[in-house]
Amino acid sequence: MKVYDENNVFAKMLKGDIPVNKIYEDEHAIAFADIHPKAPVHLLVIPKGAYTDFSDFTARAGTEEVSGFFRAVGKVAAEQGLAEAGYRLVMNTGRDGGQEVPHLHVHILAGKKLAF
Ligand code: AMP
Repeated sequence: MKVYDENNVFAKMLKGDIPVNKIYEDEHAIAFADIHPKAPVHLLVIPKGAYTDFSDFTARAGTEEVSGFFRAVGKVAAEQGLAEAGYRLVMNTGRDGGQEVPHLHVHILAGKKLAF
């Protein structure tokens, strides 16, 4: 199992050590805009719990935490007006998945018809 790095950038946001412009927050998750957008709309949703990636989250998080997190992703998309036109969810996981920040996150990409 990978050790969670308490000093990763998303952990620092959750601790309030660096500012974050939250567009959504509930007991399980926060959401904010990606600093380097890869689409006209590029949002990130992260759980409040300390999980390195999808594998870690699905192995260790409780049922309520897992469902609450995924429900938050759906709420963010709905509240941002993305549900009708659609969007893409991406969860880069680990080295070969291209994950850079070792705190679980879902990318929400939207705002145009995305090429594969
Ligand atoms: P990943 O490659 O899946 O780990 O994606 C990490 C994402 O976090 C990248 O798209 C970065 O642009 C984004 N990111 C890194 N630092 C910040 C930050 N301070 N605020 C917002 N997004 C960030």
